[in-house]
Amino acid sequence: MTFQISLFLALTAYILQSSSALITHRSAAEIAECIAKYSPDATVYGQSDNAFYQSYIGTNLAFEDEKPELVVIVTSVEDIKAGVKCAIELGEEVVVRNGGHSFAGYSYTSGIMLNLDAYNAIDFNRVSNEVTVQSGNRLGRVYGALIEESERSGNTQVVGAGTCPTVGASGHTLCAGWGMFGRKVGYIGDQIASIDLVNATGELITVSETANKDLFYALRGGCSSSFGFIESITFRMTTLDTDRFVYIDTRVYDIDNVVRVGNWFQQYGPEDAPPELTIQWTFGIGGGVPYGRIRGLFLGSATVAKKELLADWEAGFDGIYNQSEVEDMFVEYDYLGAVNEFTGLASNGGPYSALELMATDELDRETVFYKNSYLQFEVINDRQAYVKIFNHFEDGNLDFLQWKCMGGAVDIRDGKEMGSVDRWDQRSPVIRGQRIQTHYGLTAKSWQDYEDVKARVTLAEQDLVPDWVSGDLWRYPGYLVREYSDNATGPEYFGAENTVKLAVIRRTADPEGTLLALSAKDLYKAT
Ligand SMILES: Cc1cc2nc3c(=O)[nH]c(=O)nc-3n(C[C@H](O)[C@H](O)[C@H](O)COP(=O)(O)OP(=O)(O)OC[C@H]3O[C@@H](n4cnc5c(N)ncnc54)[C@H](O)[C@@H]3O)c2cc1C
Repeated sequence: MTFQISLFLALTAYILQSSSALITHRSAAEIAECIAKYSPDATVYGQSDNAFYQSYIGTNLAFEDEKPELVVIVTSVEDIKAGVKCAIELGEEVVVRNGGHSFAGYSYTSGIMLNLDAYNAIDFNRVSNEVTVQSGNRLGRVYGALIEESERSGNTQVVGAGTCPTVGASGHTLCAGWGMFGRKVGYIGDQIASIDLVNATGELITVSETANKDLFYALRGGCSSSFGFIESITFRMTTLDTDRFVYIDTRVYDIDNVVRVGNWFQQYGPEDAPPELTIQWTFGIGGGVPYGRIRGLFLGSATVAKKELLADWEAGFDGIYNQSEVEDMFVEYDYLGAVNEFTGLASNGGPYSALELMATDELDRETVFYKNSYLQFEVINDRQAYVKIFNHFEDGNLDFLQWKCMGGAVDIRDGKEMGSVDRWDQRSPVIRGQRIQTHYGLTAKSWQDYEDVKARVTLAEQDLVPDWVSGDLWRYPGYLVREYSDNATGPEYFGAENTVKLAVIRRTADPEGTLLALSAKDLYKAT
């Protein structure tokens, strides 16, 4: 109890003490002049430029009214430094934009936006088995480069990360980052050797397990740009002992089958499946019939998958699919084919080469969405809980609800099972040990619908969450929602201890609050 009180007091002290720079809004001309002083070749767009809209808009159109005064198209580290120096000099807000996928719109600003899209070189180091990616890379580009490198070197090299090819590698690293190799390699942040960072005074520093250790901790899950602007990330690659992959995509229909297989999934996916298998479950309704869909990736050939998985899968689908139907679920691909499937790109008929995959930059910029998430240590198994989920689909309150299996993963840093890793593992702020990550939401076509979307998801949340969450409430930082986090405290994302630690690191790294964009204010309640 004493411990909890002292944590609370420490947190409150930081809430009261935290600083942020006083923002003075400047004209585009003033900002452009300052940027040119520090980086004479920088390309910049003001609001009247034709390229402006594409350069500032993120995936969630709900925030399209938050327009930067000036966008800097970053092509060198000098451009990033110039953004920070001008923010200091002019008292202007500066925000860095990678993939633009923040659900909460944290990479929007009314000040200076550093758009990293063109800052996307990728270098391999075969001696150290590492890959360095400049901070503007998106996941699809990184995956494409890894496939190319695997073809060149004859070794299957992977960095495990999320399923959406246009999510940014830097934003994903900052906000946890879980994907289709997750149970084998952990979070994206678990695979990092070092990060080069432009700090709050505009200098380039290196951050690793041995240099600037506190920042290394904070950048791998702290979910805020306020620790510094990432220039590049060096990942440790994992070499697989196979170049074959099995992709699984199967559905079960009818509520009773959904409940049976859904309950099997919740035990098997995060607990009993080997770490080579990462699967996820999605609820849906097709032609008025509820279904559950399992998608996933096995690292190995169909022959190995059948040997290792078949007995469990037959038991899971007993009475629903026979043995040969279960065998047919295991479809073998090469590396490119597997990535195309798990990123969803295959459903649009391509890409057909690693180079094409690297060029995937088409963002879905037509939607407005509201999503939220929970990390669960316990799972649901009550039929009524499933029925309630489908009711919210039918009522139009949700169009998406997914479970990702996180339990049972092996931590590549020390070979320990994730489930047995201390929940408060201090090497990064990410909460460990959960079995399932649930995320859910609703999509609309126009930003005018945003308030309605938000209200509907909130209604569903209030009805459903009591069935899911027993005891402590934890959320996944990758799915932060702005309105939610306005009212929340960091402990729901990181736990109280990690939140205090992050606030201390942020304040030490940036005492003037130069890099303190909305995200940090919400997360750590810094004012
Ligand atoms: C369609 C979709 C699919 C997703 N799929 C997954 C998934 O499979 N797994 C998962 O774990 N998450 C997933 N996410 C969540 C996603 O990982 C997070 O929202 C992530 O933070 C987005 O990063 P970004 O670079 O695309 O976004 P941005 O909006 O560009 O950035 C997010 C945050 O990071 C900051 N930032 C960006 N670049 C830098 C930098 N160089 N230095 C410092 N700060 C920086 C931004 O300022 C902002 O605060 C998904 C999100 C969407 C919209």
